[in-house]
Amino acid sequence: MSATLLDIQDVTVSFDGFKALNHLNFSMEEGELRVIIGPNGAGKTTFLDVITGKTNATEGKATFKGKDLSHYKEHEIARLGVGRKFQTPRVYLNLTPRENLELSCNRGKNVLTTLFKATPSAERRTVSGLLETIGLDYKADVPAALLSHGEKQWLEIGMLVAQSPDLLLVDEPVAGLTDEETEKTGELLIALAESHSVIVIEHDMEFVRQIARQVTVLHQGSVLCEGTMDEVQNDPRVIEVYLGQEVAA
Ligand code: ADP
Ligand code: MG
Repeated sequence: MSATLLDIQDVTVSFDGFKALNHLNFSMEEGELRVIIGPNGAGKTTFLDVITGKTNATEGKATFKGKDLSHYKEHEIARLGVGRKFQTPRVYLNLTPRENLELSCNRGKNVLTTLFKATPSAERRTVSGLLETIGLDYKADVPAALLSHGEKQWLEIGMLVAQSPDLLLVDEPVAGLTDEETEKTGELLIALAESHSVIVIEHDMEFVRQIARQVTVLHQGSVLCEGTMDEVQNDPRVIEVYLGQEVAA
């Protein structure tokens, strides 16, 4: 039986009275790959902010692995096993993908020790494996500045995975990517979902269809509906919410 990894109960986040999240209920099991969609302003990013501790719930309770997140600070939640990938890549451009990954494997180290000390062989193997997973083994030793936008996204996903999180949060990973890069990103997330729990927020419906098993639709700070991609796409409430939107579901 799989265990509940994340449980959000009746969470409201108010910004000066405006409810970015409004009595939101959400739950996911260990090992799930969940996609969250919803129109702009639906509260998707705020939802991730609550999970990572960047924003506190005004009301309600969020638990991760049974722990009440309101008792933890952002860096403590990261240490509990929540890893987040932001929309814009945050990699060291003057370092190579290999060096970036070595840094992430060993967050206690600073840039200089990573550059000048030999890395232990176990860590080298981890990094090689990660380079292969993210498809950058053939560019492992060129400066990250020379990578395409998509390659930088994969590198950052690799850097997250290097920190061994239990739950990966990925906010709009394919914005600005080519079709081919988008598809490869989908394959990467599906591969990672074999050994991690993953939440992906995305607008690109073709991409969502590629990766999604279970989709949650947010609207005005609450869950509008949940189901398979087919179920949510045919739900009249979802169609109504997306009517007139650029990315019609
Ligand atoms: P999404 O990611 O789904 O587009 P967000 O979670 O970013 O939506 O935002 C949800 C709503 O909350 C939006 O109307 C946004 O303007 C508002 N909001 C988000 N963060 C803040 C903040 N720090 N202060 C005030 N309003 C905010
Ligand atoms: Mg957002």
